[in-house]
Amino acid sequence: MKPVIPPPPPTAPDHAVSRLRLARLAASAKPFVARGSGGGRCAGCRLVASHCVCALRPRLTTRAGVCLVMGDIEALKPSNTGWLVADVVTDTWAFGWSRTAVDPSLLTLLADPQWQPVLVFPGEFVPPERVVTALPTTAAMGRKPLFVLLDGTWSEARKMFRKSPYLDALPVLSLHPDEVSNYRLRRSARETHFCTSEVAALCLALAGETHAAESLAAWLDVFTTHYLSAKRSAVLDRGSEAHLRLLALDASPTEPGRPASLA
Ligand SMILES: [Zn+2]
Repeated sequence: MKPVIPPPPPTAPDHAVSRLRLARLAASAKPFVARGSGGGRCAGCRLVASHCVCALRPRLTTRAGVCLVMGDIEALKPSNTGWLVADVVTDTWAFGWSRTAVDPSLLTLLADPQWQPVLVFPGEFVPPERVVTALPTTAAMGRKPLFVLLDGTWSEARKMFRKSPYLDALPVLSLHPDEVSNYRLRRSARETHFCTSEVAALCLALAGETHAAESLAAWLDVFTTHYLSAKRSAVLDRGSEAHLRLLALDASPTEPGRPASLA
């Protein structure tokens, strides 16, 4: 009888947040120990191996890109959802933020003429003349939207916004979705503070990429279901509404969207 060889455990995905995480770990004097990380975590999804979600990860082709500017240890947190954005959106970049230095690659990206960068931030904290609620019209002229998201705690995001002069020239896209955040992984002081992958999904929807937006939202829901099941030692329902929605979206891929909401 042939021995049954189990498949190798998933390895860390080769995407921007995964690479930033490895770089941050390498730069760390002390090993980072995530809360509740006693059990072995999967390198592919950061969940305990029994709750690995890697087999369900969607990969999409999108026209829009996402640029994550991340707080110091954000890429190390197993609950960080910028990771989920990088899982799904091929053109995702991730940069660690520092008050005193900026990665030259970030400046190069922001200056790249194929992209129209917009900084996503709540409009109530921004002078009104900088705020837009739809994509700038240059996106309709061949430049692809690049959504710049400040990925960290709310206080980190505000600090990044105030102390990053290279972001000062960008238009600020203020999102006004009707629904309150579904994010259940971490509590926020602000009830309407969206998590990073929710913000990215709203941006993709605004760029006309409905399928990608729905896939990213479903991916967050599936990830959250696995994460909370592991955290609470509750039974994992692999046939949950979120799982079924993700599978249905995976079975109906569509072409990358065009900017549809510029009217
Ligand atoms: Zn995994």
